[in-house]
Amino acid sequence: MSRLVSAKEMLTKARDGKYAVAQININNLEWTKAAVLTAQELNSPIILGVSEGAGKYMTGFKTVTAMTSAMLDELNITVPVALHLDHGTYEGAKKCIEAGFSSIMFDGSHYPIDENVEKTTELVKICNEKGLSLEAEVGSIGGEEDGVIGNGECADPDECKRIADLGVTMLAAGIGNIHGKYPENWPGLSFETLAAVKDKVGDMPLVLHGGTGIPEDQIKKAISLGVAKINVNTECQWAFQEATRKYIEAGKDKEGKGFDPRKLLAPGFEAIKATVKEKLTLFGSVNKA
Ligand SMILES: [Zn+2]
Repeated sequence: MSRLVSAKEMLTKARDGKYAVAQININNLEWTKAAVLTAQELNSPIILGVSEGAGKYMTGFKTVTAMTSAMLDELNITVPVALHLDHGTYEGAKKCIEAGFSSIMFDGSHYPIDENVEKTTELVKICNEKGLSLEAEVGSIGGEEDGVIGNGECADPDECKRIADLGVTMLAAGIGNIHGKYPENWPGLSFETLAAVKDKVGDMPLVLHGGTGIPEDQIKKAISLGVAKINVNTECQWAFQEATRKYIEAGKDKEGKGFDPRKLLAPGFEAIKATVKEKLTLFGSVNKA
């Protein structure tokens, strides 16, 4: 019996309580362990995001489900944890449902809106039957592509309403946010778009992608305007990279048994934990489990 839960209840509570649940993307055992231990320590709900690439890296979605599910059991994690496909294709979504994920994002934003509606409708039906939460996306979220960083698109509020009305659990809408590093001249989040989307979709919890590098005041304002889930990926990668680099540059891998992967990966692991702690605190989900 898996301890993984749908993200529906945690997001409903977050929306009502005016805080946001963090989606922390995972890449391996260390990432997963860092995220769930930190959530447990802070008595916070958490969503573990898995991109299709990360799923492949971990040898497949079944491995991810088995590892995560067993880890919650072995570590006696009692806070709500959802295992969520991030930016899933239609085929990827079906595979994750099969593999036992508790939450799915179907990113149909690159399809014409009618096709996005059609595929999302089908997945709503499947997810409802299985008690899984489903995130949909309208208006693509920018980011680095081929070395060019876009400025961040804004979703059409009417299209957001069309998708929200299909009965998805949560909706990702572009509001000028982008994945990865924000450019120097980034104009900031479009709160006008966010307010217009919120106005159309009513109670639907909104999702903010590209949580790395958005200034704290903008994060707080976005939460106050209906954002109930914020995705963090790159920031944990930077934290891990920085701590690992320091360990090696200080020559610690050459001292005693410093080459042991359990020692070599420890500073990076602690750095991910510190980053997750910072995010859960900023998003206001501490003690909301
Ligand atoms: Zn995203």
